Amino acid sequence: MKKKVTLIPGDGIGPEVVGAAVRIIEAAGAQIEWERCDAGAEVFKKGDPTGVPAETVSSIQRTGAALKGPLETPVGYGEKSANVTLRKLFELYANIRPVRELPGVPTPFSGRNIDLVVVRENVEDLYAGIEHMQTPGVAQCLKLMSDKGCEKIVRLAFELARSEGRKSVHCATKANIMKFTEGLLKRTFERVAPEYPEIRAEHIIIDNCAHQLVRFPEQFEVIVTSNMNGDILSDLTSGLVGGLGFAPSANIGAGAVMFEAVHGSAPTIAGKNLANPTALTLSAVMLLRHLGLREEAFVVENAVLHTLEAGKALTGDVAGERIAATTSAFTDAVIENLGRNPTRWQVREHKPLRMPPMRESVATVAAKSRRTVGADLFIEADMTADRLGPSLESAMEGSAMMLKMCSNRGVKVYPEGATRPDCVDHYRCRFLPRTAGAEVTDEMLTDLIRRVGARHRWMHLEKMQEFDGKAGYTKAQGED
Ligand code: NAP
Repeated sequence: MKKKVTLIPGDGIGPEVVGAAVRIIEAAGAQIEWERCDAGAEVFKKGDPTGVPAETVSSIQRTGAALKGPLETPVGYGEKSANVTLRKLFELYANIRPVRELPGVPTPFSGRNIDLVVVRENVEDLYAGIEHMQTPGVAQCLKLMSDKGCEKIVRLAFELARSEGRKSVHCATKANIMKFTEGLLKRTFERVAPEYPEIRAEHIIIDNCAHQLVRFPEQFEVIVTSNMNGDILSDLTSGLVGGLGFAPSANIGAGAVMFEAVHGSAPTIAGKNLANPTALTLSAVMLLRHLGLREEAFVVENAVLHTLEAGKALTGDVAGERIAATTSAFTDAVIENLGRNPTRWQVREHKPLRMPPMRESVATVAAKSRRTVGADLFIEADMTADRLGPSLESAMEGSAMMLKMCSNRGVKVYPEGATRPDCVDHYRCRFLPRTAGAEVTDEMLTDLIRRVGARHRWMHLEKMQEFDGKAGYTKAQGED
């Protein structure tokens, strides 16, 4: 019986590379029935602000699997990314991006046997997309990371290592700076790692990881990381093996999967029959494996590797313009080579990936005790800190709370710190109860807003909470 899969050709070079991949896997005998659906630029143009029509959503709900071309997103303005919408709608929480040295694709790293996978958390972090202009000149993006989200991605990284027989997993974070958000990923990694004793688990700071990837990429097998870090790092790793034209990916969730190339719509070469369809074809290989069509996956991957190794029909991104083959010529060559294997490269063994169990409950961490010990009130003020501070102090006279300090973009500026930052009109003003150790009540917060709001424009209030006796907030730079 044919397996049903949603097919989204996408924008720019999407229809060319998706068309090529479909031709190849059909020629390999894969029994798939495609449900062709739209998403992306054309859908935005028709006035759908999501870029993903309801028919596309219900098709993926039916099939549980999609092969997708790249979708265009306006940069720095306009609607939200249709890619991110698709990933979030289906809770595709893991983005798996393997790269491997390829035959016939010379790079400065050729001969080093690069063979690694970036496992990128795919729905949380800065890509939660919660942004606000807090003043006309200051923008904020919330970096949200959850214990549940970290656990799912960490477990999936270890399961992936197991299924592919890999011996190590690195967790790359910026936990030295973002101790709560990135720190949560690091702590979760350290908690889960002992359950996989046969796999070496190491933490690495993300910037050093980028450095090590360029210096000694062969030391890495699996790198698990947060959404934005993984987005950037995986383009870097694509560059190590020949570029975006060679980098496949899988977006995995508990109820659906979506396979796509790492690259975007490459508008400069769109419609010219120049794009390299390898990345999309290798993404289709991952789809075939997911569908249990292991023999077809093996045959297609080998044919791609053989074609690259033979080097007779390579696209311009690897062959250079003068001797480049078109997208269709490369596709024809791969189809002709179905059944042939590369001489020196072996397709990696893959056992089926065991999906980590999901915890159904919404709150996954229960605190035994919690207290509100203060509040940060964010204020827009076109004045220096030495005028704002006294104004806030006098506003709070006779109230149950008092001003502790003001910071500007994270640096304490009132009472005056050791340095004078180049301030903007966006202050975080920290208020504590006048009676040391008293709990802050909602009435105290309402009074705080009423008093400060009568003099200054405030845009955001954040409670300072303690969970099980531990501070759930950070100090400003320079705060004691
Ligand atoms: P891009 O589309 O990946 O293209 C960057 C460059 O990489 C291209 O200009 C091209 O280089 C090369 N390239 C990419 N794919 C190639 C292929 N298959 N064959 C040969 N060369 C290839 O990145 P971008 O220009 O930053 O983004 C363009 C649009 O795509 C944006 O709207 C962005 O939001 C979207 N995007 C979508 C996805 C997705 O759907 N998952 C991912 C990333 C970006 P040369 O110019 O040297 O030919």
